[in-house]
Amino acid sequence: MCLALTAAIVAVPALGACSPGGTARDSIETPTTAVGPGADEPTTMAVPASGGVGASRPGATGGTDPVSSTTDDGPHELLAPPPTVRPALERDGDMAPLVRRVDTTDRVIFITIDDGQVRDPAALDHLLELGLPFTSFLTEPLAEADPSFWKGTQAAWGMIETHTINHVNLREASEATQRREICEPAATFEGLFGRRPTLFRPPYGNSSDSVRRIAAGCGYDAVVLWTGSTNNETLTMQEVALRPGDIVLVHYRDTLRADIDAILERARAEGFTIGRLEDYLSPGR
Ligand SMILES: [Zn+2]
Repeated sequence: MCLALTAAIVAVPALGACSPGGTARDSIETPTTAVGPGADEPTTMAVPASGGVGASRPGATGGTDPVSSTTDDGPHELLAPPPTVRPALERDGDMAPLVRRVDTTDRVIFITIDDGQVRDPAALDHLLELGLPFTSFLTEPLAEADPSFWKGTQAAWGMIETHTINHVNLREASEATQRREICEPAATFEGLFGRRPTLFRPPYGNSSDSVRRIAAGCGYDAVVLWTGSTNNETLTMQEVALRPGDIVLVHYRDTLRADIDAILERARAEGFTIGRLEDYLSPGR
């Protein structure tokens, strides 16, 4: 089970829960706090102000930033410049790379937001105001439940990637089920959001050789885990200090805005910026 990692990465268990609806857990996922999904009643929202779908991020490319143009603040101080060197992501045989931490020396970390249960317009407004990149890993039903909200995240410099259909523990699923859970959302999301997802995150961090093989087969560039997470607005990293390439997991929950702010505060304190995961793992896609 010790995987030959070609891209990144540390062989320590991921912290943090990714728990909605699920009961299965294993050693790779060590929830720090039991934040029950039952407390997260899905909300709905009005259609957000829409910007360009799949727009490039602000600042880094020198393009016009519709966020800062409304605030006159310019790009956010924590916006990372483009990557200095992109990590070489080589497939391990026919398996997609498993990325827990991006292999980079840039002082950059990445924000990833999972599942999609709570869709809070105020949190979306906050993301729009920040103008910082983030990546959403959504389950298919929650993506289909509110496409206008998710298009709003695209306008807020968010990227949309996949996180199965039913949030299953893929290690306990048949190969046929794994294939459907991993591959079907890519086609669905391409239809909904105008971009075929390039990254896949398995629920509970439960990857396997089979998961990686199937993910590569249906076109993903990498299977993405994480090195830190927030629970109850507290950021917990696997190591004491932030490290270049850290990937932080949060969820679409009632605490999202505070969770994001906790990450930004930590990044600012330790001299890190916020990068776009796809710039490193899926350049140009
Ligand atoms: Zn999840």
